[in-house]
Amino acid sequence: MQNSTSIYDNPDHELLRDQVAKFIAREVEPHADAWEEKGMVPRDVLKRMGQAGLLGLMYEGEYGGGDADALTNLVFAEALSQSTYAGFIITVLVHTDMAGPHLHHSGNAQQKAKYLKKVTAGESICAVGISEPGAGSDVAGIRTTARHDGDEWVINGTKMFITNGVHADLYFVAAKTGTARHEVTMFIVEKGTPGFSVGRALKKTGWLSSDTAELIFDNVRIPEANVLGEVGKGFYSVMKNFQTERIALAAMAVGHCQRALELTLDYVRQREAFGGKLWDKQTIRHRLAMADAKTRAARAFTYHCAWRVTQGHDIVQDVSMLKALTGELVNEVVQTCQQFHGGMGYIRETAIERLWRDARVLAIGGGATEVMLEEVAKRY
Ligand SMILES: Cc1cc2nc3c(=O)[nH]c(=O)nc-3n(C[C@H](O)[C@H](O)[C@H](O)COP(=O)(O)OP(=O)(O)OC[C@H]3O[C@@H](n4cnc5c(N)ncnc54)[C@H](O)[C@@H]3O)c2cc1C
Repeated sequence: MQNSTSIYDNPDHELLRDQVAKFIAREVEPHADAWEEKGMVPRDVLKRMGQAGLLGLMYEGEYGGGDADALTNLVFAEALSQSTYAGFIITVLVHTDMAGPHLHHSGNAQQKAKYLKKVTAGESICAVGISEPGAGSDVAGIRTTARHDGDEWVINGTKMFITNGVHADLYFVAAKTGTARHEVTMFIVEKGTPGFSVGRALKKTGWLSSDTAELIFDNVRIPEANVLGEVGKGFYSVMKNFQTERIALAAMAVGHCQRALELTLDYVRQREAFGGKLWDKQTIRHRLAMADAKTRAARAFTYHCAWRVTQGHDIVQDVSMLKALTGELVNEVVQTCQQFHGGMGYIRETAIERLWRDARVLAIGGGATEVMLEEVAKRY
């Protein structure tokens, strides 16, 4: 139920949707229950995505990327979000839309030559470490520090809730490099750097096939060459990257709404109660119709935001609205859909139960609803 025809579409988008749908049907849906049990997506699946050209759509061709614009990237995120396994989706989208863009936007030629091709190929999986035990919404409140020492930087601190934290190879890490509130610098940290360790894998409510970890930095020495972007300007690059990240999260929310509605329409059309189908109940038809109306409206806004990015506009207010709107909507829609599955909606083996658990974090991670609404309101 992607409702795909819109003024933003072109034939390449259809090909991409089709390619992703086939990948999900073949490589994900039949296997992902096992990944949920294991708490991770196998690396060979990610490598196959890389080989299919799906892990670096927005990056430059010279690094194996697709030179795609924000709309094409959104088509990818929405198509991927037709999977009912959000743990798989977020594993990929953190790599492509939340961590990778730090290297893409801020990396210099040497850094891109060294790392970006492997990222695009799925040989290096990446993670982004901003949140900490004491600071998530308040990025400037982080306490991890990086101190200049000769021609190296020494990082100390702890990161929390880091997606791909256990299994990534490459981490883009935010640290305070001065005393001013926004004096933050981004660093490239490779897995295996002495002093850098994964504290623990965190057990979550949903996104079970996504690994989420605490990261520990104990006098981690980083060469000057691994400073990502300008020293002291990392806060602003984090804010800039939120734009791509939040459109991807909105696509994920819209994708969940679409899949939940599809599953529920199928279910209520065949489920019998009180001498007829559930579909015969007007209240059920109306609530699903309204849920679909809201989903289509949210989808149109998501595409509009991506289109504005392609036009070079600064759309912080729109994207903050979008994140707040879709993070709340997905919870409303998926819960409505779960309700109409009755007891089956609460049983672990059903896709709707998983979608319901997985939806919750979309109103929290990557910018909680209240924080997003503050970003909106302060721009009036
Ligand atoms: C599964 C998962 C994966 C994640 N992956 C990553 C990752 O890969 N990298 C990374 O860096 N981070 C990641 N995060 C962290 C995530 O972005 C933060 O959890 C989120 O930004 C909220 O920060 P916090 O948990 O510290 O909540 P807090 O900042 O402590 O806020 C708690 C609650 O208070 C409310 N609140 C906060 N500020 C305001 C305000 N100004 N006005 C009104 N209400 C407010 C909100 O309701 C918020 O949910 C992940 C989190 C989860 C749960």
